[in-house]
Amino acid sequence: MNKNTNHILIKYIAYFYFYDKLKEVINMDLKKFKMIDEPFICDVCKKEVQPLKVSARDHCPYCLCSKHVDINPGDRQNSCHGILRPIGVDKYKDTFKIVYKCDKCGQIHRNIMAQDDDFDMILEVTKNVK
Ligand SMILES: [Zn+2]
Ligand SMILES: [Zn+2]
Repeated sequence: MNKNTNHILIKYIAYFYFYDKLKEVINMDLKKFKMIDEPFICDVCKKEVQPLKVSARDHCPYCLCSKHVDINPGDRQNSCHGILRPIGVDKYKDTFKIVYKCDKCGQIHRNIMAQDDDFDMILEVTKNVK
């Protein structure tokens, strides 16, 4: 093997290596996107929840419960997977943030309410605020 073919070989190996890495990254993003956009059955009230078209849905619109899956909003990197139960609301700009407490690790978490959240449930939670 002369020097030239060697160089071409190295180029090809590098190309395929990076191509594979690139594919991995793209697939990971697709998976994440799929997870967010799929309808799911709520673990708490067992109702089927349809995907929210405008943004990622992070809680159930019927019982407002959520799952402790994020470290930072939307990253799905938390391995806790406990149920986040609403314990109150915070005023946030012209909307509300629902305050949650995880029933597994006890961490406090906040999610912005969605337009189609059951407003009676929001009011119910508001009553609990002391
Ligand atoms: Zn629910
Ligand atoms: Zn938790």
